[in-house]
Amino acid sequence: LYNMVQDLRGNIRVYCRIRPPFSTETKNVIDFIGKDGSLVILDPLKSQKVGRKVFQFNHVFGPTATQDEVFRDTQPLIRSVMDGYNVCIFAYGQTGSGKTHTMYGPSGGSTKDLGINYLALNDLFQLSNRRKDITEYDIHVQMVEIYNEQVRDLLADDKLEIRSCTGENGLSLPDATMHSVKSTADVLNLMKLGEVNRVVSSTAINNQSSRSHSVLTVHVHGKDVSRSIVRSCLHLVDLAGSERVDKSEVTGDGLKEAQYINKSLSCLGDVITALAQKNSHIPYRNSKLTLLLQNSLGGHAKTLMFAHVSPEGDSFGETISTLKFAQRVSTV
Ligand code: ADP
Ligand code: MG
Repeated sequence: LYNMVQDLRGNIRVYCRIRPPFSTETKNVIDFIGKDGSLVILDPLKSQKVGRKVFQFNHVFGPTATQDEVFRDTQPLIRSVMDGYNVCIFAYGQTGSGKTHTMYGPSGGSTKDLGINYLALNDLFQLSNRRKDITEYDIHVQMVEIYNEQVRDLLADDKLEIRSCTGENGLSLPDATMHSVKSTADVLNLMKLGEVNRVVSSTAINNQSSRSHSVLTVHVHGKDVSRSIVRSCLHLVDLAGSERVDKSEVTGDGLKEAQYINKSLSCLGDVITALAQKNSHIPYRNSKLTLLLQNSLGGHAKTLMFAHVSPEGDSFGETISTLKFAQRVSTV
């Protein structure tokens, strides 16, 4: 029934998440959060009358939403992987808006408040255990980053560069190492290794800003005594910061990074828009990111985007552009 309800509403949904303000942030832009997914924000430099902007999403998580609440709303989608659906979940937003918090958990490697990546795998293990009399599931993971249009394996010692993004049976990333996972402890170890291997460089906004997209791919294979019955995958994507170039005041390498990031994020938007409009040509080939995610964008696959925003007035311009991007993806 869940799948039926979702199919009627289309396979692309957009959630917005607003991170809590830091103690130094005093000009809050959030005006109203509706239970129906509406969001009103207010330009701190303008009056109530002219400074209000209204958006509509599938759901809005305010600053007090917990990791568990966010996970609970995402759980049915994640579970559909066990029934053979390919699923893709993205975190989009400017640097510092909470993307990594949602996907991995708090900065600093704390094991409290772990994010969707961990909670999703934990849930898949439980579900597979519950179904073990009927179906035997194997779960494998891969983790790569895309940095300046190069794909690199985050779980190999030598950060192997990957050339082909799609394999013959539609399997993404045939060249990246595959790791069998049987418990959440296995997952935590691999995630730790992957995070350490991620490329970080400094920008004016945040000196630990991630300038790469990271993709954790979970492959699920279910079989009964005689045959294979389910083969699907879940991509969990922590995108690079969406901020515009001028704000980061970057030149040289930083400028090249920013241009690659802008290009891949706009390609992602183009692909999702083309899918929603049911265009005959879907421009997957325009970026490594969309090529890699091809099998879980479109067709029967389910896509969820988390648009992350900061509550701070100084980020108003970036917040508007994030919300507009997200709105474009959700209403086409
Ligand atoms: P991004 O990955 O988008 O650059 P982070 O996830 O690193 O942003 O978040 C920036 C900072 O805000 C981090 O210190 C993070 O721990 C904190 N933070 C983000 N979202 C939340 C949240 N929902 N609750 C508590 N702290 C958060
Ligand atoms: Mg991050």
